[in-house]
Amino acid sequence: MQIVSSAFALTGVKESMMISLALAVVAALPRQGPYIVPVADVVKPTVSDRQNFQVPDRVRLTGLLGTRIDASTRNRLEKIDIDRLLEGYRKRPGRQSWDGEHIGKWLHAATLAWVNSGDVSLRKKLDQAVVELEKCQLPDGYLGTYLDKDRWTDWDVWAHKYNLLGLLTYIRYTGNRQPLSTCRKMGDLLCQTFGDGPGQRDLMKAGHHAGMAPGSVLEPMVLLYRATGEARYLEFCQYILRAWEQPNGPHIISRLLDRKGVNQVGNGKAYEMLSCLNGVLELYRSTGDKRLLRASINAWEDVVKNRLYITGAASSYELFQDDFNLPNNGNVGETCVTVTWIQLNTQLLRLTGEARFAEQLESVSLNQLLGAQQPDGRAWGYYVQMEGRKPYSSTLDGHCCLSSGPRGIALLSTFAVSTDPDGVVINLFNPAVAHLKLRDGSPVDVEILTRFPADGRVQVRVNNPNRRTFAVKMRDPKWNASPESGQVWKGSPDGYRVIRKTWKSGEMVEMDLSLKTRIVKGDHANAGKAAVMYGPLVLAADEALISGAKLTGFGLSNGGKPRVVSPVAAPKSRKTWSGAEVYRLNKTKTLVPFADAGITGSRYKVWIPLEDVITQNVLAGGRESYSRAGNLAESISDDDPATVAVTFNGQRADEDWFQITMPKAVTAKRFTFWHGRSFHDGGWFDTRFGKPKIQIRRTADGPWETVGELADYPVTTDREARDPRLVNNSAGFTLKLVAPVRFFAVRVVGVPSSGDNPAQNFSSCGDLQAFAK
Ligand SMILES: [Zn+2]
Repeated sequence: MQIVSSAFALTGVKESMMISLALAVVAALPRQGPYIVPVADVVKPTVSDRQNFQVPDRVRLTGLLGTRIDASTRNRLEKIDIDRLLEGYRKRPGRQSWDGEHIGKWLHAATLAWVNSGDVSLRKKLDQAVVELEKCQLPDGYLGTYLDKDRWTDWDVWAHKYNLLGLLTYIRYTGNRQPLSTCRKMGDLLCQTFGDGPGQRDLMKAGHHAGMAPGSVLEPMVLLYRATGEARYLEFCQYILRAWEQPNGPHIISRLLDRKGVNQVGNGKAYEMLSCLNGVLELYRSTGDKRLLRASINAWEDVVKNRLYITGAASSYELFQDDFNLPNNGNVGETCVTVTWIQLNTQLLRLTGEARFAEQLESVSLNQLLGAQQPDGRAWGYYVQMEGRKPYSSTLDGHCCLSSGPRGIALLSTFAVSTDPDGVVINLFNPAVAHLKLRDGSPVDVEILTRFPADGRVQVRVNNPNRRTFAVKMRDPKWNASPESGQVWKGSPDGYRVIRKTWKSGEMVEMDLSLKTRIVKGDHANAGKAAVMYGPLVLAADEALISGAKLTGFGLSNGGKPRVVSPVAAPKSRKTWSGAEVYRLNKTKTLVPFADAGITGSRYKVWIPLEDVITQNVLAGGRESYSRAGNLAESISDDDPATVAVTFNGQRADEDWFQITMPKAVTAKRFTFWHGRSFHDGGWFDTRFGKPKIQIRRTADGPWETVGELADYPVTTDREARDPRLVNNSAGFTLKLVAPVRFFAVRVVGVPSSGDNPAQNFSSCGDLQAFAK
């Protein structure tokens, strides 16, 4: 397939006569009833949802998402060791300060997964886990992992938050109300302990991140209010809003209403802030206070405009950073942030019914969420960066994200297909079978027949409609830039395409979305690079699929001509689902979906230089040495800038160098230095005394001679290296000479930095390479 120029064709209604021979994928049968009826709230919300999300047993996803959902359920949620999750409760304190969060997060994800799969053994495990967790509650209601003397100092309000969320989810879907007394006791203890009354503690002082970590207990406290009807829980929620606006609070609502960026709310910590906003929207649902919705939408708009990665990731170093400061590697894209961002979008989609939130859900789910999940579901990445390696891990120690990832996966079947006052809403194009109920209570079964994202043809078959009149809505995705030509699908103010008619059983409608390739030019720190997209999929270069395995020099170049991308069946190593594809660029280069990039441990990158760097590093095979031995001594000539050497030894030095000595003389005209890593206490070169220099030895024992400096190295001091180019320098910093030089040894020399610890200084090197031209 070539780049398709006539990308978007809405071909209108095809009557049920249409035979879909082309569709290789047949949707699985829906889970047969009886379907679960969630336990009703004692207090109904004040604001009713525009879109009704589904109980997960009513929507069975197959294809790409179905494969990943099954993998998460079978290989992660079912395999979890409950004794490990409860260890810190049974023998307080736990192995680390926030170990208490995992059981509640598991209960939330595993309950939704059980509802979706109907898996009997998972249900048994849930029942056992709940009984065992309840046994750990202390007589006064405390259900954290801390010793009495350390209560409410760190991450134990946080653990109560997740225990409430997990147990309330379990109660809602199993119908077993027994744990509600455990939840009430937790809620009562929080209400007694914290508040602005005499003798009460300040919630903002009971945890981290300007009070956003403990303040995020808002979400389950609203749910507890609705589940019990106890007014004091709602009053506690109002107290949390007041506490946020205290002088020591994060000022979440006021700053967002003032249109401040999310980086100026609290300390900018993304996971905790988004968790608070999910509570804010839950509270809006109960109170109808429009300011809460406005503040949340302002946050969403700010993130989308200024702080979102192309894959739907947000955060670097776990914070919302300054506008467009989106480094490609380092501690980028925490998976907890990915999942809470998904939750924020689901809340906004439910409340407003606007397709723009579904658009974000598609992007983040197909790219960043699946990109963080190991395809077999066993492991998750913590920081899943735009270039580097996937840091998959399967042990919970120190790994908040490992219990967050499955929560995101478990939510997919709640929003992929939904209903609204007009009828049926298709939010994701993934193949599915859904057993829905319209607003008037009448049942409608819907099948989505497609190989998406391997193919853009999406058919929707409506079964059992009993000749009723209602709408079927499908998202009109932004990635289809061409104007729609269909006459039958009408536009609607909420951003969906609509067919409203009286349906006959088995009737089918179709949308033909051509999956046009898009080259997205990079800006800011990614200027000179581009990302390649195929429909909603972000593609990446992966060294395991590059002949010669030279990711460093990999570019998109084709002499400035249009780039042609053709999908082909994925090789065995990337066959992560039945329709898996890789993409041939200009017939010679292979790109892979971000979700499948780096899954064999290989390096990958999303932002690809426009031009190839066609070169041979003349320093390959040289001997490496540094001015001082540090505590990281990975290779600086392995064509992998992510493996670094540092000179950190706790001492100060006036100068540092990283050197490569060749067995015989070589000739080079261009030298490239890849900065390694920056730390709080140094790692970069201090340029107040000049940019880092390149020096050579023309004879084996000759004197060092400076041939030039790395002029494109950013300006720094010994204390500060805020320039994103230092963590985003996949192109390296380069010295190009007028004429080639011949030498036996070369080194980069500079003044090391000390960051926040002036007692020492050090520098870091990723790679040093030299080229003949
Ligand atoms: Zn995390």
